[in-house]
Amino acid sequence: MNETFLIIFLITFTAAMVVLYFRIGRGSGWKKPKRPLSNKDRSILSSKVQFYKDLSSDDKKKFEFRAVEFLENVKVSGVDAKVTRADELLVASGAIIPVFRFKDWQYTGINEVLLYPGGFDDSFQDGINDDGTDNMGMVGDGPLDKKMILSKNDLHNGFKNQRSHTNVAIHEFIHLIEKETGATEGIPKLFVEGNDTAEWAKLVRSEIDKINAGKSDIIEYAAEDMQEFFATVSEYFFMDRDTFRSKHSELNVFLEKMYRMKD
Ligand SMILES: [Zn+2]
Repeated sequence: MNETFLIIFLITFTAAMVVLYFRIGRGSGWKKPKRPLSNKDRSILSSKVQFYKDLSSDDKKKFEFRAVEFLENVKVSGVDAKVTRADELLVASGAIIPVFRFKDWQYTGINEVLLYPGGFDDSFQDGINDDGTDNMGMVGDGPLDKKMILSKNDLHNGFKNQRSHTNVAIHEFIHLIEKETGATEGIPKLFVEGNDTAEWAKLVRSEIDKINAGKSDIIEYAAEDMQEFFATVSEYFFMDRDTFRSKHSELNVFLEKMYRMKD
């Protein structure tokens, strides 16, 4: 009797350990995509996402897998807005671009992206706040935990105009990574490894002084705090690589290392 019990226990225990091992091995356990991206999807990416266009054909395939995997696990829903395939692919691109060189990364802090037609106020209504500001995007908290809100209009504008140096999807996904991993000197911990954060902080403070004095081409919002600086400057870094490299060579060295862009 005791022996039978022991054998059953050992079998159950071993099976549980095997399941656990594979779960841990697969990160957060995202569902595998059922089908690859269609040719039409690929042509949408090619026509709208410069980052994808600039990749080698091998890397393009990796990007496509990540896009379809993301969309298999994160729903894109419209709030008074119709969701098109292009919307979905741009949301997925914003999610993938910052973590593209982190091949095992899967977001754990999100299961749905809500698309509003345009900017929204602090109570998540269409329109602007009393002080005239509005929001283009937001990482949800409390009842909106695991949700992100993006303005559909601004989502498209971000990918359309490289020279605007802004991309709300990339910005909000960087905040999500920061929420999931924590941050040091405004840098999400995922990107901290092997970097001198004190040196980075020094560079940031001097750039913020330039922004405040009107002597930088980085948008003013970056001067809000270290987190906003990182998210905002990363939009510029990813959207206009050549200009960023030539105008901000020191920040560029750090960001290339942080995002593992150097092969
Ligand atoms: Zn922000």
